[in-house]
Amino acid sequence: MIAGAVDFGGTKLMVGLVDEHGKIIEQRTVPTPKEPTDVADSAASMLREMKGDHTLVGVGSTVPGLADSRAGVLRYAPAHGWRDLPWAQMLSEQTGLPVRIANDVNACALAEQRFGAGRGVADLIWVTVSTGVGAGLVLNGRIFEGAHGIAGEIGHIVVTEHGQTCGCGHKGCVESVASGPAIARRAQLAGLDVADATGVFALARQGNDVARWMVAEAGKYLGRAFAVAFNLFDPEMLVVGGGVARSLDLLLPHIEKTMRGRAISLPEHPPRVVATELGYEAALVGAAALVLPAPYSA
Ligand SMILES: [Zn+2]
Repeated sequence: MIAGAVDFGGTKLMVGLVDEHGKIIEQRTVPTPKEPTDVADSAASMLREMKGDHTLVGVGSTVPGLADSRAGVLRYAPAHGWRDLPWAQMLSEQTGLPVRIANDVNACALAEQRFGAGRGVADLIWVTVSTGVGAGLVLNGRIFEGAHGIAGEIGHIVVTEHGQTCGCGHKGCVESVASGPAIARRAQLAGLDVADATGVFALARQGNDVARWMVAEAGKYLGRAFAVAFNLFDPEMLVVGGGVARSLDLLLPHIEKTMRGRAISLPEHPPRVVATELGYEAALVGAAALVLPAPYSA
């Protein structure tokens, strides 16, 4: 069984075919066209070329913003200013196939639950730690969007009194102190000569004390936010994706130390935080999972 998959990102449009095991059979990436109708055209023509003799069960697509997946509508894409775009219908008209959509972070969460670190688990939280910090919730085996598609805004949990002002206007949100750019900025303020968070992690691996302190601080702040997520949803695991996930081994001792005092758990089931098994292509695989049947019912 094969699904068409579209990862409709702000800058890149990734299109592929994915089988029922979550394996990508073929994929292609192009810059995202400026107009939504051109995005639909471009995605549909790439799918037609890839399809060959395969029969597709449908097409799943991520969207770069707030999704109303029941209505198939992209409610709001802040980077583009698009509002109330009937994306499922547009793509369905172009492909002649049923289309389901989800926000990109939610698609990553579903991919990890179906095919990644969370295989066989009903309740999982995915957290992207990258330019921003955002979460996708899979509860009872299904994406949970909330009443308005906003569920999972973990990045705006306040974790310190002293942080920078966040993009949302408040102070001390975890996104403003532990996202990739925030880690880099804090390190620069502390005198480190680094261009980005990757540089901070590299210095920490070399034993630089200031870099190690910065990593400990970021881990502490992430741990505070993750503890809130565990206390609210009691997930089987929290999966970390995004660029910062590559350095999760450095952050994890600090995340776990912080959570020990804050997350309520049973002694035999301490909160589990793991790195993504799917990485860069999680959103594409998750898009396909929207139209592929679940391997089990939660
Ligand atoms: Zn905020």
